[in-house]
Amino acid sequence: MGHKYSAVLLFGAPGAGKGTQGELLGRVPGYFHLSTGDMFRTMDRESELGKVFYEYSSKGELVPDEITVDLWSKYTHALTVLNRYAPTRELMILDGLPRTVAQVDLVRDHVDVKCIVHLVASDREEMVARLRGRAMKQKRPDDAKEDVVRNRLAVYDRETRPVLDRFDGGLIKEVDALGSPGEVLRGVLGVVSPVQESLFGNALKA
Ligand code: AMP
Repeated sequence: MGHKYSAVLLFGAPGAGKGTQGELLGRVPGYFHLSTGDMFRTMDRESELGKVFYEYSSKGELVPDEITVDLWSKYTHALTVLNRYAPTRELMILDGLPRTVAQVDLVRDHVDVKCIVHLVASDREEMVARLRGRAMKQKRPDDAKEDVVRNRLAVYDRETRPVLDRFDGGLIKEVDALGSPGEVLRGVLGVVSPVQESLFGNALKA
């Protein structure tokens, strides 16, 4: 396959702040934030795929790999056609994919991984508290119940964490996730901004 999307992977346990950081970065010219969790949540819950998503996410489980990657690739292509994402001018901040070792192989032909920002949250109880606080504010069936939150963290340890071992260690940059959003953003920008500029230059001068 010829064309690949240049991307930075936002990596970390549920509650580490991938969504917050991705959204903030997505507002900076030259970056495009794509979250697979957001992609799934925009689906009609009564649609066939919407039902599949709800069935898995309400238990804290992952949607099957093929379904996820197939939907993501169609969704991304649609965003380029609709002029929402310009792969030749914007660095994709990919949040929530790949989330299993099998997905690493499924996205390999589509994504050129320039670096991986690993948001490291050493305090698990703080993560659980963040997830529960968020569930109150947003429509997130997956974070409303304590046992579902615990399962999401267990699924992360079992299925997602091993994804890191599939990449060259030199690509992985750790950023402490426990600070304020602004402080964490400073760390994230320190990693991604040189990548974005070396690939695309200053977005405002383009
Ligand atoms: P998130 O907002 O990233 O925590 O994602 C919410 C839910 O969407 C997850 O608990 C999964 O059920 C589903 N999901 C998001 N990304 C993926 C993925 N790459 N593979 C499988 N399921 C996913």
